[in-house]
Amino acid sequence: MLKGLSAIVTGSTSGIGLGIAEALARDGAKVMLNGFGEASQIERQRAQLQAETGVQIAYSAADMAQPEQIRRMVVEAEQLFGAVDILVNNAGIQFIAPVEEFPDEKWAQILAINLTSNFHAIKAALPGMKRRNRGRIINIASAHGLIASPFKSAYVAAKHGTLGLTKTVALEVAETGITCNAICPGYVRTPLVEGQIKEQARAHRMSEQQVIEAVILASQPNKRFVSLQELADLVLFLCSDSAISITGAALPMDGGWTAR
Ligand code: NAD
Repeated sequence: MLKGLSAIVTGSTSGIGLGIAEALARDGAKVMLNGFGEASQIERQRAQLQAETGVQIAYSAADMAQPEQIRRMVVEAEQLFGAVDILVNNAGIQFIAPVEEFPDEKWAQILAINLTSNFHAIKAALPGMKRRNRGRIINIASAHGLIASPFKSAYVAAKHGTLGLTKTVALEVAETGITCNAICPGYVRTPLVEGQIKEQARAHRMSEQQVIEAVILASQPNKRFVSLQELADLVLFLCSDSAISITGAALPMDGGWTAR
C-alpha cells in the first residue's frame, strides 16, 4: 500500500498516464495529475478520482516542453503534499515521417517532451527524495527505447535517450533508498495509438482492423495489446519495498517484441 506517499504522473489526462495515476491513487497515494485537455473534463476526472479513492488529487497544467513550468509543478506538489515520493515521467507524443522529411520543429518538440522533460522533472524532484532517503522514479519509455522502427527517428532517439538517463540516475542514487527504472511497453491501445491506426489505415488504404492485425500487432508476437492494468500493476510493484533492488533497469512489457 502506498498510503501516505505522494506521486506526480506527467501526461496523466489520458491513456497510460491516467491509468497509472488511477492505480496509484487506488493504492493510497496522493497524486498530482498533469497534461493537456479540456479544463472542465480534467476537473471532472480529478474530482471523481478524489471522491472514489478518498486521497488528495491535484492537477498541474505544466507544459512538459517548458523547463520552468516543470520545476514549478514539482515545487507545487511538494508544497501541497509535503513530498514527491514517486515520479512517473510519462508524457509523450509521436510523429511519423522519413528522416529527410522530418520537420525540425517536430524533432525538437519530441525530444523536449519525451526526453528532456524527464531530466528536468528528475532534477527537480531528486533533492527532496534524497533528503527523505526514499523515492521511486519510473520513466515510461517504449519498446522503441530498445529497438527502432522506420519513420520514427525522433521518438526512437528520445526513448533510447530515456534509457540512458534512467541508468545514469540509477547509478548516481544507488546507495540511497531511491530507484530509477524505465518501462518499455509494446503497443497499448490509447488515443496515441488510435491516431496511428487511423493514419496507417489512410496511408495503406486498409481498414482499421487490417492495420491492427497486419501493421500494429505484426511486431508483437503475442498478438495482443498491452493493457493499462498490466502496466499499472508493474508500476505498483516498482513502487513497493520488494522492488528496492530493481534499479537502472529497462523492463520490457511487449509480448515478446524485443525478444526477436
Ligand atoms: P496519450 O496521447 O494517450 O497521452 C499522452 C499524455 O501526455 C496526455 O495526457 C497529454 O495531454 C500529455 N501531454 C502531451 N504533451 C504534453 C506536454 N507538452 N506537457 C504535458 N503533457 C503532455 O499517449 P499514451 O499512449 O498514453 O502514451 C503515454 C506514454 O507512453 C508516452 O510517453 C508514450 O511514448 C509511451 N508509450 C505508449 C505506447 C502505446 O502503445 N500507447 C507504447 C509505448 C510507450
